Amino acid sequence: MALPKSHSQSVLPNPRLLVLETIEQFEDRFLLTVRVQQVPLCPECGRASESRHSHYVRRLQDLPWQGLSVQIHLRVRRFRCRNPDCQRRVFTERVEGVPPYLRQTSRLAEIVRLVGYVAGGLPGARLLARLAILTSDDTVLRRVKVPSSATLSSNPPDVLGVDDWAWRKGHTYGTILVDLEQHCVVDLLPCRSAESFEAWLKEQPRIGVISRDRSGLYAEGARLGSPAAMQVADRFHLLLNLSAAVERALEERSRQLQLPFPAPPPHVSLAQDSPQAKTTRQDSLKQQRRQRRLDRYGQVIGLYHQGCSQRRISESLEIERKTVRRWIRAGQFPERKPPRQRPPQVHRFAEYLQRRWEEGCHNATRLFQEIRLQGYRGGRGMVARHVAGWRNPAQVFPTARPQKITPKHAAILGTKPAAQLTAEQQLLLDQLSAKCPDLLGLRKLVGDFREVLRCGEGQSLLVWMKNAKHSGIGPVARFAVGLEKDFSAVLAAVETPWSNGQVEGQINRLKTLKRQMFGRAGFPLLRARVLPYAPFDFTPVSQPP
Ligand SMILES: [Zn+2]
Repeated sequence: MALPKSHSQSVLPNPRLLVLETIEQFEDRFLLTVRVQQVPLCPECGRASESRHSHYVRRLQDLPWQGLSVQIHLRVRRFRCRNPDCQRRVFTERVEGVPPYLRQTSRLAEIVRLVGYVAGGLPGARLLARLAILTSDDTVLRRVKVPSSATLSSNPPDVLGVDDWAWRKGHTYGTILVDLEQHCVVDLLPCRSAESFEAWLKEQPRIGVISRDRSGLYAEGARLGSPAAMQVADRFHLLLNLSAAVERALEERSRQLQLPFPAPPPHVSLAQDSPQAKTTRQDSLKQQRRQRRLDRYGQVIGLYHQGCSQRRISESLEIERKTVRRWIRAGQFPERKPPRQRPPQVHRFAEYLQRRWEEGCHNATRLFQEIRLQGYRGGRGMVARHVAGWRNPAQVFPTARPQKITPKHAAILGTKPAAQLTAEQQLLLDQLSAKCPDLLGLRKLVGDFREVLRCGEGQSLLVWMKNAKHSGIGPVARFAVGLEKDFSAVLAAVETPWSNGQVEGQINRLKTLKRQMFGRAGFPLLRARVLPYAPFDFTPVSQPP
């Protein structure tokens, strides 16, 4: 069906040069036949030519109309260049708004680029298809990957944050560069090295501040590439390094990291009321009773060494003489033996339960009913607890040994701010520091360091470093020596507001993009999608992208 063309002329990509001849409507598209009306100029020498050589028809996709795709059949002409000095003999006329090598108009290619930037290749192609822009995922990605030259030169950064990001964790790393004032990614480098960072910095003379991690790599790159810039060690990385030092210190003291009493067995949680809290309460009561007993023991031994008779001791402290004698003879504080518990009744039926379990009966209620018929008088809960270990091997009852705490766990207790400790963690910390006295010292050092970073005074940093070096805790002292070597950057971390916090945020965004593309995206694509969106004018492209 033919439509009147007059009012449609104005919506062509370049109505000054393009002349609409016909419009045809099909079920799924409009087809526009268009010709060019201009004086053609040779792209080589720029001289006008009137010598027609030939013509051909270009098929271009344009913005959709009313949910239908639009195809333009553009009749372009070839001309001979009559300039004797020109290399070119024959040229094709160029039309503004129509890129010479794409099968899309510039304005459509720009939209494809934007959708691809936001959504990625395949999702972008699907979305575009729904909007009547039919294109392949490869094309979408090709549009996104065309590098834009505009961003960096138009708005060079003054304050730069640099960090690494993992292509493959533990194997290959890249570098991300963030403008800390504009809050945007400035550039992405495919590798992590002092040389590449140095080379990049040399192109950016305006940078005055560089915030970086504590690896010597970026420090070295910054020193060589931008010697005048102030380097700032990232506060988060400083705390991270200190935490690692604390963990190493606790590893050296791992034999002290034991709790005096076995922890509540995990399977108690099968009971109905909150058993965890109850057991912790019981434990702390137990601990208090033990402490009272220990104090009394100390008094008895003290009086004994002063030359008091057992009778005098017994009378003055109101302790039975038998006990006094036993304690004096023991030579050391006699710990109470753990109460001997009768094995639960359910153990009589252990063999039967195991056989039934292996036969496939995993229903505790059913098992309970079965052994009740055989004379079991206990409750269902005992049966459930008995089989819980089979259901989940991690829940097996631990044997009654002092519970060991890993250095990592202890380091968390040692570094967490007091306000963030739960009551349970506080209790654990108290118990642990009784066995490992250095834990409290470490905790104080970490708290003080956090305070140094918070208060922003360089003097307090010096005081802290001195204390740390004389703390007698090797790894922390070495950490302080490390701060000395990197002193100006660490001082800047204390005294300036700059940190790599937003760089970490940008790395998270990068990871999301990487995974959204199933980790298969190459560097140019990843870079294009991590950098802020930059429009691209496809018309002046002189080579196929
Ligand atoms: Zn020419």
